[in-house]
Parts: sequence; C-alpha cells; structure tokens
Amino acid sequence: MTLIKWEESTWEEIRDACSKGAITLVPVGSVEQHGPHLPLGTDYLIVDAIAERIGKESKDLTIIKTPPLPYGLSSMWGAYPGTVTLTTNTYLHLIKELIHSVIRSGCRKVIIINGHAGNSDALRVACRDTVEELGKGEVAVVTLWDLCGDIINRSFQTGFFHADEVESSVALALGLRVKGPLRAAGEAHRKYSDFWHSLDLTVRPKAYVFRPESREMHGAGSFGRPDLASSEKGRALVDCLIRRLGEFLNEFMLSNV
Ligand SMILES: [Zn+2]
Repeated sequence: MTLIKWEESTWEEIRDACSKGAITLVPVGSVEQHGPHLPLGTDYLIVDAIAERIGKESKDLTIIKTPPLPYGLSSMWGAYPGTVTLTTNTYLHLIKELIHSVIRSGCRKVIIINGHAGNSDALRVACRDTVEELGKGEVAVVTLWDLCGDIINRSFQTGFFHADEVESSVALALGLRVKGPLRAAGEAHRKYSDFWHSLDLTVRPKAYVFRPESREMHGAGSFGRPDLASSEKGRALVDCLIRRLGEFLNEFMLSNV
C-alpha cells in the first residue's frame, strides 16, 4: 500500500507514480447547510476521510489522492447562510479542467468520489466529455451514497436523505464536529409518491422533478431522525463503503485503457 498526497508531493513524484500505474482519487463534495448539528463542509470532509482510508488500506496498489474539492452545486440550500454554491457551468469547467490536469500529468485512471448527490449529474457529463476530448484516460464517478443503499436499509431505522440519521452517524464515526443534542427533524418535503421517487436508494423507478428551491427553507435544515444516529452505525457503514470502493478499485485497475 502506498498513499501519495498530491499536494505534499513533488512534480517528479507525481510523474513517477503515474507512470507506474497509480490510480488518482479525487474527493468532491459541497459546502452547504447540514442542519443545526453538522458542519457546512460535511460532504467533502466525509469523502476526503474515506478516500484517505482507502488509500491507506488498499493493498498492492499505489493511490494518489488530490486535495478535496470542497465546493459543488448547492443551490437547493441557497436560503441558508453558509451555503456556498457554484453555477453548473462553472462546476462543469472546473471538473473538466481538474481531470485534464490529472490525466495530463500521466495518470490513466481517475476515480471521483462524490459526497453530494446534487453534483452527480454534472460530474457524469464533465467526465464523459473530458475523456472524449482527451481521447485517453478512464474516469469513474462514484457517489458515495449510491454504493450502500442495501446496507442502509438493513442497518438504519430511517431512509437516507440529508443531515439525517445516516449522514449524522457517518459524521460521528469519522470524528467530524457534531453539535449536540441531536434532535428529530421533519420529514423530507414530498409531493410525489414513493413509486416515482422513493428515498430508498435501492428502489427504481425514479423520476426527477425540478422546481425553484434556492429560496426555500425547510426548518433547521436537517431531516428524518438525526437523534437515532450513532457512531457504531456510522462505523459499520463506513467499513462497508471502504470495502465496496476497494472492490471497485481493484476491478477498475484491471480494466485496460
Ligand atoms: Zn451531506
């Protein structure tokens, strides 16, 4: 196992690691309201910690980790002070230029580990376009919460949403600053039945409906039952995330570019 931090390396170290087939992990998240109890940086702090652990625990692979990209697409929480959002066009350009730089440095395989569901669509578009433009490289986008819907169903009392039982448990497990006491919150604002868009991450079909959200407040900004969160539940989920990401990493490594 070797974990190389991009920002602590020299250019020659990055060149050499890339030429020997290292995979680069790019953690991306958001700076947005996470209720009265979780920090604004929750999404990027979670993915950065998980990426670091994967790097340390991956056997036989050399992993490079870039600094996390904190800012993302968070217009949905724009009514809350502290939320910082990029526009979609800025984000697309930023992601494309970031991947360009990593691949131009000699890295052939890149995994973006995303902690904020609101970034997912733009990330997929940016990555598809970038590899086409470059004509080389292989880029994977993995949104953390998509990896473990089945485990969430088994281990948590409530479904995944935002600043809820699940996310608060992971934050506790990773040692983020969590401001107690944790309180039950309202349910997610729902206009459509579970058939079209269940919060259960394993359920299909899903219909995506958009309406202006950036001026809406939803109470204190947490959802579901943060009061049911625990670091034990969070640790089990983090272990599962690390295991699944590790399995994917090994398959991704073996695929030919
Ligand atoms: Zn979050």
